[in-house]
Amino acid sequence: MSTAVSSNSSAPGTQERPLRIAVIGSGPAGVYAADMLTKSAEVRDGLVVSIDLFDRYPAPYGLIRYGVAPDHPRIKGIVNALYKVLDRGDIRFFGNVNYGTDLNLEDLQKHYDAVIFATGAIKDADLNIPGIELDGSYGGADFVSWYDGHPDVPREWPLNAKEIAVIGNGNVALDVARILSKHADDLLVTEIPDNVYQGLLSSPVTDVHIFGRRGPAQVKFTPMELRELSHSRDVDIVLYEEDFDFDEASDAAVKSNNQVKTMVNTLTNWLAEQDDDAADPTTGASRRLHLHFLHNPVEIVGEDGKVSGIKFERTELDGTGNVRGTGEFLDYPVQAVYRSVGYFGSAVPDVEFDHLRGVVMNDAGRVLATDGSHVPGLYATGWIKRGPVGLIGHTKGDALETITHLLADRGDLPLAAEAAPETVVELLDARGVEFTTWEGWLELDAHEKALGAAATDSSAVQRERIKVVARDEMVGVSRGASLTR
Ligand code: NAP
Repeated sequence: MSTAVSSNSSAPGTQERPLRIAVIGSGPAGVYAADMLTKSAEVRDGLVVSIDLFDRYPAPYGLIRYGVAPDHPRIKGIVNALYKVLDRGDIRFFGNVNYGTDLNLEDLQKHYDAVIFATGAIKDADLNIPGIELDGSYGGADFVSWYDGHPDVPREWPLNAKEIAVIGNGNVALDVARILSKHADDLLVTEIPDNVYQGLLSSPVTDVHIFGRRGPAQVKFTPMELRELSHSRDVDIVLYEEDFDFDEASDAAVKSNNQVKTMVNTLTNWLAEQDDDAADPTTGASRRLHLHFLHNPVEIVGEDGKVSGIKFERTELDGTGNVRGTGEFLDYPVQAVYRSVGYFGSAVPDVEFDHLRGVVMNDAGRVLATDGSHVPGLYATGWIKRGPVGLIGHTKGDALETITHLLADRGDLPLAAEAAPETVVELLDARGVEFTTWEGWLELDAHEKALGAAATDSSAVQRERIKVVARDEMVGVSRGASLTR
């Protein structure tokens, strides 16, 4: 590793020798960190920074492109903000570059004075119950990757279940259940790839059941996302009176937390509305979305290696907002189970990883070595720093903390031996890495919009864009563009 420098005239941060920073991950976490660095007080006071943003995918935006449900255009609006940052031209984008294989830590330390890891979390957290390995048992995050056209997941998704269980009461469970229960034609206005449309079109689903292990006041949904469930055409929401239980902690949460209050009101209103016709709580829609609470999953039941049902232990609130088992077990016939019990971060090569929490070992964004000391020049932000919790906006506070520490440390950063910006391009070229650029993304973006426009003409449904899914096609379209910046 190169030697540390103290703040003196040779310290990086001048026009001749800018402070070189690599950000790994171009999702919201990485872009916010890069943007905040360029707008920091230090930069306003004359510090010159030069930032390269790397992503393993050929396209930018990370979670926004590969984690947000396609029928959430509101959140997609965040793309506009990220676009403005990257289109300014002062941050270079290198897509299709995989940290760990195309570039390793030693390479980054040779070319940059500091590295910020913003690799997020894309994998499902485990759910260790018998039967989880059965055919028909899926990770919700994997399904999200499929419907968002992630380049590295298979194009086919088995959608042959009539009855489906979704485990978890977080926003990902809502996304998964909503997409599973929506009619494919109602998603055509979004940017879904054609294979996803065709897959959903063939789905015979009639009933999707979402199961929470705690009560209605303990859901981890957010109010807007919950209300959105009722907007699906020809899908009835079904609730069960016996699931509506509230303990002291629930009452306190409803009183003190507006979000909880809104969600409990929404759920109890839905229940009250369906009570008007208790014999048949539905309006006769062809699909139903059931919300169950106080159900703890204990086993996925199989027949001939395939999911045929799911068993829950009924739970009861214990006064603190947590639950205990009642000893009563309930079985539901389902042919597919999706677990949406949270995301889990993947280890980042060459940095210490907390395998219990799924985060890079760090202290407020400073990456730590095994002995707990800060590894000079290494930082983390976003979900890989604090775990997969919180909405996208929360990542901003995170980024601010991380870059504040980076800038405070800047006199002691290990100096990059080859800091000239072109040297990293030469290295990637020499290794035959087919990296994509911001200009390349603009090409791909225009291409996807053109595909949408062409499909609009033939289907009469306004299609804003159609995502290109195959990695080589994404790279081909992008690299058709100029690679200069
Ligand atoms: P989450 O919000 O942490 O929810 C996980 C759910 O899984 C909880 O209901 C949890 O129950 C349940 N769970 C965990 N372990 C379980 C087990 N062993 N058995 C049964 N249930 C279990 O995670 P997420 O849904 O993956 O969302 C991650 C973050 O992304 C959240 O901050 C979310 O708001 C955000 N997000 C936002 C949107 C949006 O549209 N705004 C969309 C997707 C994701 P307990 O509460 O009992 O632990």
